[in-house]
Amino acid sequence: MIAALAFVIASATSWDVRVTADRSMALSSISESRMRGNLSFLASDLLEGRATPSPGLDIAATFIASQFRAAGLKPLGDDDFFQTTTYREARVRNVIGLLEGSDPTLKNQYIFVTAHYDHLGKKSSGEGDLIFNGACDDGSGTVSVIEIAHALSQMKVKPKRSIVFLTFWGEERGLLGSRYYGKNPIIPIRKTIADVNIEQVGRTDDSEGPRVNAVSITGEDYSDVGKVFKMAGKQLKTGVEKHPHLSDWYFGASDNQALADLGVPAHTVCTAFQFPDYHRVGDEWQKIDYANMVKVNKLIALSVLALADSQSEPEWSKDNPKAAKYRKAKADRIASNG
Ligand SMILES: [Zn+2]
Repeated sequence: MIAALAFVIASATSWDVRVTADRSMALSSISESRMRGNLSFLASDLLEGRATPSPGLDIAATFIASQFRAAGLKPLGDDDFFQTTTYREARVRNVIGLLEGSDPTLKNQYIFVTAHYDHLGKKSSGEGDLIFNGACDDGSGTVSVIEIAHALSQMKVKPKRSIVFLTFWGEERGLLGSRYYGKNPIIPIRKTIADVNIEQVGRTDDSEGPRVNAVSITGEDYSDVGKVFKMAGKQLKTGVEKHPHLSDWYFGASDNQALADLGVPAHTVCTAFQFPDYHRVGDEWQKIDYANMVKVNKLIALSVLALADSQSEPEWSKDNPKAAKYRKAKADRIASNG
């Protein structure tokens, strides 16, 4: 009895952040040049700032799907990798692919890795550069989702839980793609046990000073996800730092909020909360720190693996009042089997 209790306590608080040979191989495959290549396309003027809706947004979705296919993911959409709907009489698409888990039981639980691939489009008139390229916001998150899909797909033994890679339209118009997903989930929400959303991981010239080899997790102490990142960060010697006020303030500023509202422990990881070209035409792919993105993506990938492979599943904090409504949403969801 005592031994069993001790085991329960240990498993409830332990996260597997070891860098095994297989994990090390996957992390080493994260490629600076592939991210630069992919981002130079997604943030190119050809795509005209990926406004929702626009031809550029649609091209971006097709490109992401092609990369998910190259990584060997399984399509989860209603149409191949696409979850399709319409917005202002135009087609808009979330892009969703699956890396199936290897554990016969845990594979029925899912870790989400997400980012938004839309941006602000272009100015209707004026002089000079008119295109909001959105390289850091959130081309950087989008190519990170692709990169982590590539890396984890190469593992000899796949992660125990299944991993869903999902990119959203319409974030800049108010979390539209993620809210749409939340209302029309492809994986039951009760089986979706965490979301790691990636936003603005490209720029190290934070408005408050250089941010190198470090990330922040929004709502860091709202759930166990922040703890997992901190443990993985120690392994890889990459900082996981709570900003005195922005870490909490930005919790509601990205697509993680749509899943958190449904009870899923969901957070956004970023490098710089604020940077000089934020929502300006100067957010170009040439200004991204790709070497730093490799470090950040290794940390995200290891954290995702810890979430996927540990017996425990992340819970909302009992102690932080800011997490109370999400904790309740999760309990209600489980009670209703929804
Ligand atoms: Zn964004």
